[in-house]
Amino acid sequence: MTVRTSRRGRLLLGGVLALATAFAGPVVGAPPAGAEPAGTLAAAFDAAAARYDVPRDLLMALGYAESRLDMHAGAPSASGGYGLMHLAHNPQVRTLDEAATLTQLSQDVLRTQPTANVLGSAAVLRAYADQAGLAAATRDDVNGWYAAVARYGGASDPSVARLYADTVYDLLRAGFSSERGEAVAGRPVAPQRGALERATVPGGIGTLSTDYGPAAWAPASTSNYTVASRPGSQAITRVVIHMTQGSYAGSISWFQNPASKVSAHYTFRSSDGAVTQSVREKDIAWHAGNWTYNTESIGIEHEGYVDNPAWFTDAMYRASATLTRSLANKYGIPKDRAHIVGHVEVPGATHTDPGPYWNWTYYMQLVNGITGIGSGTVDTEASTLNVRSGPGVGNPVVGSVADGASLAIYCQAVGSTVTGPHGTTAIWDRIGTNRYVSDAYVQTGHTGYIPNVPRC
Ligand SMILES: [Zn+2]
Repeated sequence: MTVRTSRRGRLLLGGVLALATAFAGPVVGAPPAGAEPAGTLAAAFDAAAARYDVPRDLLMALGYAESRLDMHAGAPSASGGYGLMHLAHNPQVRTLDEAATLTQLSQDVLRTQPTANVLGSAAVLRAYADQAGLAAATRDDVNGWYAAVARYGGASDPSVARLYADTVYDLLRAGFSSERGEAVAGRPVAPQRGALERATVPGGIGTLSTDYGPAAWAPASTSNYTVASRPGSQAITRVVIHMTQGSYAGSISWFQNPASKVSAHYTFRSSDGAVTQSVREKDIAWHAGNWTYNTESIGIEHEGYVDNPAWFTDAMYRASATLTRSLANKYGIPKDRAHIVGHVEVPGATHTDPGPYWNWTYYMQLVNGITGIGSGTVDTEASTLNVRSGPGVGNPVVGSVADGASLAIYCQAVGSTVTGPHGTTAIWDRIGTNRYVSDAYVQTGHTGYIPNVPRC
């Protein structure tokens, strides 16, 4: 049962809107640069699907898996893929070149214009389906496109090819919606995996890691790391945190490409915190762009792009922090920011990851064992409470929760000061990925912070 105060809750606007200096999370405003209105992008998928007779929802699921339907302002992924459909030009995957040939559009237009990018990917998928023998009469059925989708991902390892394609079909099964409102409803799927049906074990890819129990093992190309016998004569003293600038399967695949000359020990998946190991901890992965740091560190990648907060999920933070805590305990690495660093902090770094949306406050709390998930009950005198994308009333409303609803609280942030049924407070509760409510409207059983729930 909730306890109400007699005073009607209200938001204090204007002069009390100051963000505290402890606030480290994102303030999300306009859509990312290069984005088009939802209607425009939906029309692009409709047109591409019609022109090349590719199921529209399949195209959209592939784009969501690759980019969360984000153009990244035309900047390439780590593996040389462009745009929301990740048309790639690298030593192993040439979907950008193929799209140019098939559509007669220039590579520049395909890289930078969303409508062309979608059209190009549809052309490539259709060509792959034709080459795989997909009959015209069955093109409406998403299940027959599995081989084309797997090939589009460009993985050389069948397990990783399956991981890539399964990600797309899992999205079709579950349904999804982008931040700008493009949506695909879930449906039953039964992908026809063909030879890839035997490529993996249920629930994961390939075999399991010998270094870290929860991880799958998909080894990097031996061209992309240095064999060593750490810790031995070379201590492991740091963990370096990265964002992949690419999809989970795409990044694991890139480390298997002998031409990439990059690798990391571990890569985490945004949607659920699943993890794959690519390089043994005793060996030196090539991730930091600094040989001294490489030799002394473990490199951890996180699926996503630095410019899109949608990738920075609670599931990924928590899974990654569990590994980092385990590594720190195993190798005696202090659990502080001098030893757990971002790629951007490595001397000479040319990369900016993990970027401004990475919440160090949250992550370091988790690494230090403050891992509780609080519970609360919405207590508002209206029928619903606004959910905002960041901890403050200046952030966009991204949803609502009903009065009386139970909430899981993943961490608590300092934001704008609000007065509600539970007093005046600057605490905001993170109730999901980039979803915050003012603690002034939540009955948590605690005045102020909830014990053992991380700050963020
Ligand atoms: Zn990096």
